[in-house]
Amino acid sequence: MRCPFCASPDTQVKDSRVAEDGSYIKRRRFCTECGSRFTTFERVQLKDIMVKKSNGIVVPFEREKLLNSIKIACKKRPISDERIDKIVSSIQRQLETTGEGEVSSREIGSLAMEILSSLDIVAYIRFASVYYNFDTKDDFSKFIEKIKKEVLDEKESDEVLTKSYDKCSLDTDFSPAKKDELF
Ligand SMILES: [Zn+2]
Repeated sequence: MRCPFCASPDTQVKDSRVAEDGSYIKRRRFCTECGSRFTTFERVQLKDIMVKKSNGIVVPFEREKLLNSIKIACKKRPISDERIDKIVSSIQRQLETTGEGEVSSREIGSLAMEILSSLDIVAYIRFASVYYNFDTKDDFSKFIEKIKKEVLDEKESDEVLTKSYDKCSLDTDFSPAKKDELF
């Protein structure tokens, strides 16, 4: 494996560890050229997934990209990195077993939102607000009204939603990337 810092091809594995559930192997690597340390993960990939974007362009599925999008949506929420990793693995596995060589970005978005909606409402709203690419506050309010009916218990909904809205609109760390950059 080439060093990501200095591009030297000469790196060594210092330590290998199998995940508790056996789903991946984590390797600590060391660059003999520049001394940097980095980690790689070895996972099963059942087949190559191609993603058809909304603009029609087809690109290879990038696990890291989806992982980062979900990580950003879950920022400062009580969701561990391990949990997020499992969410992404679950989405990836579902995509691999659809039987089709190509999946639409819409399918990936739906899978991610389905999981997030049952996991954490704030993370769900953040992800959805980028995914749906709301242009106006009005679009966003309509969406909030919709999920209020779908997901939330009326009693706690107003407070949670107000907080979520503040987080979405004021949290500058959650910069609304373009929909096509989510995964
Ligand atoms: Zn190096």
